[in-house]
Amino acid sequence: MLKKLFKRLRGSSSKRNKLSARLIPESEHGINPRDISSGSIRVIDQLQKAGYQAFLVGGGVRDLMLGLHPKDFDVATSATPEQIKQVIRSARIIGRRFRLVHVPSGRETVEVATFRAHHNVDDDQDQHAAQTDASGIITRDNLWGSIEQDAERRDFTVNALYYDPTTRLVHDFCSGAEDLKAHRLRLIGIPEHRYREDPVRILRAIRFSAKLDFCLDDATTVPLRTVAPMLAQISPHRLSDEVHKLLGCGHAQRVMQLLQEYDLLGLLFPHVHFNDAAWSLIMATAQNTDQRIAQGKSINPAFFLAALLWRSVVDRQHQLQDHGVALIPSWQQAGQHVLQQQMHRTALTKYVVQTIREIWDLQPRLQHPDPRHIATLSVQPRFRAGFDFLVLREACEEDTGGMGAWWDRYQEADPGLQAEMIRDVVVPKPAAKNRRRPRKRKSPQSVSATRHD
Ligand code: ATP
Ligand code: MG
Repeated sequence: MLKKLFKRLRGSSSKRNKLSARLIPESEHGINPRDISSGSIRVIDQLQKAGYQAFLVGGGVRDLMLGLHPKDFDVATSATPEQIKQVIRSARIIGRRFRLVHVPSGRETVEVATFRAHHNVDDDQDQHAAQTDASGIITRDNLWGSIEQDAERRDFTVNALYYDPTTRLVHDFCSGAEDLKAHRLRLIGIPEHRYREDPVRILRAIRFSAKLDFCLDDATTVPLRTVAPMLAQISPHRLSDEVHKLLGCGHAQRVMQLLQEYDLLGLLFPHVHFNDAAWSLIMATAQNTDQRIAQGKSINPAFFLAALLWRSVVDRQHQLQDHGVALIPSWQQAGQHVLQQQMHRTALTKYVVQTIREIWDLQPRLQHPDPRHIATLSVQPRFRAGFDFLVLREACEEDTGGMGAWWDRYQEADPGLQAEMIRDVVVPKPAAKNRRRPRKRKSPQSVSATRHD
């Protein structure tokens, strides 16, 4: 009985520990409400009219204060998910680990999160709403709290700025505005503890640092490498989401450099051998992807993953061929093997797997085309991606027999010239079947060890 009372008191005293906000006026934060999506403004307005607190928070506020175009607009509110549903009929509650509400608004979906509180592991009530596993990773985070508590639960100070479109004030609880000015990324609270609670914050730190060109403050950097192995405990689905965000944030070149600098590549792609050849293709693909995003073009995450894993496929294919597997099956088996290994770490949807395989399967076919099939090859749906991939490999000085340039000329040529090109095509011979390589290799079963140059 006494023990329970003591626990309650401890719990409530930690919840009383309040931060106070600095209120930043429009003249200082410079946010123009017209730059905010109409959907999120409407949701905030509806919630406020129903008597709840509601703010724009996260990347929307951060990016607007930096003069950037936010990717999305997140809303935080004092209303619980059920209360949000009562106010907004079309709202849908989603998620279990982290319950959220999605409000459809035209083409936009506004994500609405209820204010969270730190939970007390000894408190029975708290345990129901929020849980951590044996290693300290938060497995459920649904304990509702006040705005002050919510600010402390967010990851970086620059992500804990709350904008009220009604008063046009920004509420800053963690000196986020100061860090924004200094282009500094700083974790709220004790960094090691915050990374341990959710190791994905490590990848978020990399992404925001690359995207915003912010430096990580020292305290945020120091525990990063120590905690990084905990990423292996994150579900492949969540890691996959984060990897897609990393590759598609528009600054993939910097992302890759940072992942390498902080020894994170081996944790995300444990079976990839990041040697010079692999790295050169990865960076060329990153540059290409960043350029496409800057030009407002769409990107296919499968293409990037195909490049990331390519050298592993090549290595495996050589080994299989050395062990007597024929050319085409050796490519297919190598691709299958590499994808299966990767899926233990980052989930790959059926569509992504299929696209990657089509790009890979096209490589030997484009390099050593059967003249009878050239015309049909060039009109098949994945041709463009396969061709772009071949060109990138060629630009990275892989031996493609110059077929990237050949296909480039072929596409530009008129039908007469195309027929002539097909007649004259001198295709480099594929490696002979059962060819023995001079170097002694390990058996195909032992090729999955993680190696780093
Ligand atoms: P962007 O949308 O540009 O990728 P963002 O900062 O808005 O960046 P979201 O993933 O949309 O990122 O999350 C919205 C906000 O929710 C974040 O700004 C942050 O305050 C909070 N948040 C998201 N993920 C975490 C996390 N793992 N730990 C703590 N807070 C988080
Ligand atoms: Mg966001």
